[in-house]
Amino acid sequence: MENTITTPAQPTELCNYCSTKIENDDSFCTNCGYPIKGTDFEQRSFVAARNNIDIDMNEFNKTLKSATMSLYYLAGIFVISGLISFFMNKDNADVLAIVLPNFILAILFLVLGSFSRKKTLACLVSGLSLYIIVQVLNAIADPVSIGRGIIMKIIIIGYLINGIKSAINIEKIKKENNIA
Ligand SMILES: [Zn+2]
Repeated sequence: MENTITTPAQPTELCNYCSTKIENDDSFCTNCGYPIKGTDFEQRSFVAARNNIDIDMNEFNKTLKSATMSLYYLAGIFVISGLISFFMNKDNADVLAIVLPNFILAILFLVLGSFSRKKTLACLVSGLSLYIIVQVLNAIADPVSIGRGIIMKIIIIGYLINGIKSAINIEKIKKENNIA
């Protein structure tokens, strides 16, 4: 991020760090906390600290993206298994009862995926819980199903757990540094 230096004539018009408009009597930027009236050292330290935070945040945001993507991926998996079980049970009178849970789950994961941008932590926790409940119910109904696609299941759960960790870390960093 390029930090523009404001003209000396109006030294407190825009924040040096985030370019937010500043009221004349503000000591700190109301948006990013930049020490407007701080010493040169304080201002440099602020920028250095914020750059480190940005690097951490980038890393956490990458993990978050994989986690939210796995919510969409799960929606896709349930659509596919819904279609497969539809064609396998086409002539069964209970075909709807067999197929419907898959499509309901697909819709739930799609909704969680689309809300995960705003309510990331809540959506990831819900997604992980839902996925684990489905696996437990499947395991009770058909114990052989536990082993089916076990590596994929572990990878998905891993992505979701890492996403939850990252979401918690991002919240922590934001709180510690008063980032909105
Ligand atoms: Zn600022």
